[in-house]
Amino acid sequence: MLLTLDGVDTYYGRAQALRGLSLTVGRREIVAILGANGAGKSTTLLTISGLLRARTGRILFEGRSIAREKPGAIVRLGVSHCPEGRALFPEMTVRDNLRLGAFLRRDREAIAADEERVHQHFPRLRERSLQLAGSLSGGEQQMLAIGRALMSRPRLLLLDEPSLGLSPILVQEMFRIIEDINREGTAVLLVEQNVGAALEAAHRGYVMETGRIVVSGTKEELLHNDQVRRAYLGG
Ligand code: ATP
Repeated sequence: MLLTLDGVDTYYGRAQALRGLSLTVGRREIVAILGANGAGKSTTLLTISGLLRARTGRILFEGRSIAREKPGAIVRLGVSHCPEGRALFPEMTVRDNLRLGAFLRRDREAIAADEERVHQHFPRLRERSLQLAGSLSGGEQQMLAIGRALMSRPRLLLLDEPSLGLSPILVQEMFRIIEDINREGTAVLLVEQNVGAALEAAHRGYVMETGRIVVSGTKEELLHNDQVRRAYLGG
């Protein structure tokens, strides 16, 4: 497995947000974490990327424990987090926001090649390279945030609500691009409220409730699961 979480507990102060969470992501997989508001989906991604600390449990990336590593070290090992709300710098250009994603790297030529690869996935970012990030549409900002996350050459991409605020057509395009990125060799762990779209793209998924996994399975198993259908797919 590329990523393994085993019995992870995470707290905000005294409030426990993850309760013995266990999950895995394989080297070539797209895995979706589904669940209602407040279930702990974002907290799971923040814990993996080291922005929050697991109080107990194990987090292994490529067999190595990362639970005590700093966020920068975790990026260097190959995990890139595209957070909810995108966290762009609106007063900086599209190009400079993108290049920030490579700030830990010094290999100029490879960085240029990766910028080219991001532009192939998201042609609109090339056209708007010198525009301020704050002037982009919501969908374009989401593309920029994902493009920036790709600039650290991740083995594992963590995506928090990639479809948030996008029109139905853009949601489809976004998931098509996520599948392309995955086919090029990047594993993806994504959090989504848009369960239908997420399960189209994902190989496997987990459903979370109050900090725990309550259902897990392959895409087909989840699409046919009564609990998932009733709660998220309108019957
Ligand atoms: P959403 O889609 O609404 O973000 P989520 O499934 O991602 O939902 P989390 O954001 O991970 O849920 O939140 C899990 C729990 O942790 C919730 O009970 C939430 O209120 C709590 N929580 C989240 N962030 C904080 C914080 N900064 N301080 C205290 N509690 C928090």
